[in-house]
Amino acid sequence: IFMRIPFIAGNWKMNLSVDEAVQFLQDIKGKLPDPKVTETCIAASPLFLESMLKESAGSSLVIAAENCFYEDEGAYTGETSPKALHEMGVTHVIIGHSERRKYFNETDDIINKKVHAAFRNNLTPIICCDETMSRRESTNRISWVVSQVTNALKSITSEQAKTIIIAYEPSWAIGSGKTATTDEAEEGCYLIRQTVADLYSDEVANQVRVLYGGSVNDENADDILAQRDIDGVLAGGASLKADSFLKLANFLQ
Ligand code: PEP
Repeated sequence: IFMRIPFIAGNWKMNLSVDEAVQFLQDIKGKLPDPKVTETCIAASPLFLESMLKESAGSSLVIAAENCFYEDEGAYTGETSPKALHEMGVTHVIIGHSERRKYFNETDDIINKKVHAAFRNNLTPIICCDETMSRRESTNRISWVVSQVTNALKSITSEQAKTIIIAYEPSWAIGSGKTATTDEAEEGCYLIRQTVADLYSDEVANQVRVLYGGSVNDENADDILAQRDIDGVLAGGASLKADSFLKLANFLQ
């Protein structure tokens, strides 16, 4: 049986300062789990990444960008180049977070282009699959999740697909303090994995790591991480303080 290594990721969004980011890394240094047992990741603003890479050098912490553009370079004022992210040493990038979809009008098509841009530049994409309350309450829940995964992975090979991380993030649970029940979280993650199996194979689906995100904290992470199809979490609020991030990171030790 192929064992998936759990992945605990924090997403700082547009919070903290460079100094606070560096202090955070100093605080967690030496306290992270063995990466063979649990991989850990922090996604931050491009403004912080260079200092964070320097501070985390030699540690197992994965440093991710929160977003990137779908072109490598050119006349795209204000955008973040995936090529430059790779050159600076960043290895992972979040793509299609619900806040990007909501405030920056990112469509499935744009997200698919960004997934291709990530692979073209040796970045591992952490693809977010959103689900709003109105969609959840409509009868089309399954087709909505399936279509987001299918569209994000258009023309992605099975070799590439194996390496991706997908986060199920019902946006009604993000920053709301309202976590999905463990059954709801497991069902969303299961749906994502089945979609990957249908698109590729069971072998690929067994390797893809599927995370749950939405008001995860050190009190509810236990039950969430115990679910069969949930391989880790993507935490916003709970990742902003070193001690609460460390609690999440070390749950499975
Ligand atoms: C997120 O933004 O990915 C997230 C899950 O946020 P929070 O944990 O704050 O709900």
